[in-house]
This record gives sequence, C-alpha cells and structure tokens, in this order.
Amino acid sequence: MTVATDIEPEGKGSSEVKMKEERRWTLSDFDIGKPLGRGKFGNVYLAREKKSKHIVALKVLFKSQLKQSQVEHQLRREVEIQSHLRHANILRLYGYFYDQTRVYLILEYAAKGELYKELQRCKYFPEKRAATFIASLAQALIYCHGKHVIHRDIKPENLLVGAQGELKIADFGWSVHTFDRRRTMCGTLDYLPPEMVESKEHDASVDIWSLGVLCYEFLYGVPPFEAKEHSDTYRRIVRVDLKFPSKPVVSAAAKDLISQLLVKDSSQRLPLHKLLEHPWIVQNADPSGIYRT
Ligand code: ATP
Ligand code: MG
Repeated sequence: MTVATDIEPEGKGSSEVKMKEERRWTLSDFDIGKPLGRGKFGNVYLAREKKSKHIVALKVLFKSQLKQSQVEHQLRREVEIQSHLRHANILRLYGYFYDQTRVYLILEYAAKGELYKELQRCKYFPEKRAATFIASLAQALIYCHGKHVIHRDIKPENLLVGAQGELKIADFGWSVHTFDRRRTMCGTLDYLPPEMVESKEHDASVDIWSLGVLCYEFLYGVPPFEAKEHSDTYRRIVRVDLKFPSKPVVSAAAKDLISQLLVKDSSQRLPLHKLLEHPWIVQNADPSGIYRT
C-alpha cells in the first residue's frame, strides 16, 4: 500500500512550495526528540523531518503488539482515512513507513496536547470556550460526513489541542467500521448513542449524539449518562436519562442545544449545519475556532 505523503516546510503556506510526492520515508529522515506520550501499541515522539525542518509527532507502533491484538486491519483503515482528510480541526496524517518490527505514523504535532487533561485541569469550561470547541468539531464533522467518513469515537481522549488552542480530532481507529460488539464490552459506553449501545444500524448521526455528550461534559465536567455500573450507563443512554445539575450554572440556551443533540431517534437530532446556527453557538463561539480569555 502506498499513500501520498506530503510535508510542508515550516513557515510556508500550503499553497506555496510543498513536497508532495509518493515517497518512502525512513527513520533516518527524522531527528527524534522528546517522548510526547505513551499509547497502547507504542510511543509518540516529537520529531523533525531533516530536509524541511518540519516538526511532527512520530507515532511508533510495535507490529508484534498490533498482531497480537488483531488491529492491523483497523490501523490500515485509520491511515487510509486520516491521510486523505484536510481540515484545520482534524489532525493531519502526513504518511507512514515501517521497518522489521515497527510501524511509524507521521502526524501533525499538537503542541498543547490532550484536551482530556485540559478539561481535568479546569474541571469544566466556560460557555464561550465550550461553544468554540463544539462549533469547530461540528465543522470538522460536516467535512468528514461530506466525505462519507463517520468518526464514531468522538471523546475528550481523542481530541488534541494545537499551538493556538485550536481543537484537532485525532484517532480515526474506529471510523467507518461496522460496529464491533466487543467495543461495547471493553471500552467506555459513555459516548455511544442508543442505536450503537443496542447494536442497531447507525449512520453519521452517531457523531451528532457524541457532540451532545461532549458539549455536556465540557460544561459540567462529567458525561451525562455516567454511572458506576456499565449496565446503568447502558440503561441511562437507552432511556436518554438526561438531567442537568444545578451546579455549575449553565445557560438555558446551552441546555436547549444539548437536548436537541441527545435525541433517541437519530433522524430527529439537530443537523450539524443547524447546530452552527443555534443561538448558543452564534452568541458564544469564536468564529476563528480559538478561544481567547
Ligand atoms: P490509546 O489508544 O491508549 O489512546 P494510542 O495508541 O491511541 O493510545 P495516542 O493516544 O495516539 O496513542 O498517543 C499517546 C499520547 O501521545 C497521547 O495521549 C498524547 O499525549 C500524545 N500524542 C499523540 N499524538 C500526538 C500529537 N500528534 N501531538 C502531540 N501529542 C501527541
Ligand atoms: Mg489515543
């Protein structure tokens, strides 16, 4: 499998000089810097492509672990999908290469790291920040859905933050796959819509539901259907047992938007282009996608 790879030299706009070629990268094309994080199948390092001096994140995955967990197919899909998406709020995958024991993904570097950690630090976000993030995500998802890509795994752990504080959707490992039952049993259920929890057919509107869950979590600091037991979360999702705590205080407009996204009947969820016109978004989201304090 060959994938078109391109890395833009630093400081040059995308319309300017751009190395764009079917090219085979090797480890010797990169200077390796500090570790950025640890993943399930390997580590992620800050790296610099020697020729262009472009800073990237190099994700190193061990083939043996990929095989053991039978996720090679999933990784292939992830690479195929993510390398063809071009959006300010979607983490770029510039290319990949491999050697005897490892697979390397060349990723856009998200300087401010995981949104998940930022949310933990802040506990919950002010409405303007939450709205700015939700609007950015809606735009990225409109773009994906236009390309018939459903993400299916939108949650804080899969969102990274760029140098300017802009949101980047990462981790397309579950996009466009037929739903895997095992996922329900091992992973968190919190972000899954009723039709996926019940293993029914689903479409792009699953991402709209996840956006509703995320919006709630941004504003309250916890996902809406959280429960101690897996089975209770399941029940709460299927019943759409949505409650708004009195603290922190959240505007009626925000609650109205969340209520229009977390709708059991997937065809009745607020379409993403309408979400962008919702008064709460219009009044609170910064059109630049960057939240300024
Ligand atoms: P898991 O499935 O357990 O989340 P993973 O294999 O998907 O692990 P990642 O989450 O992609 O691994 O990467 C591990 C960590 O490395 C992340 O949590 C993040 O802190 C950091 N990281 C990954 N990619 C980038 C990036 N492009 N820019 C900056 N940091 C990154
Ligand atoms: Mg991850």
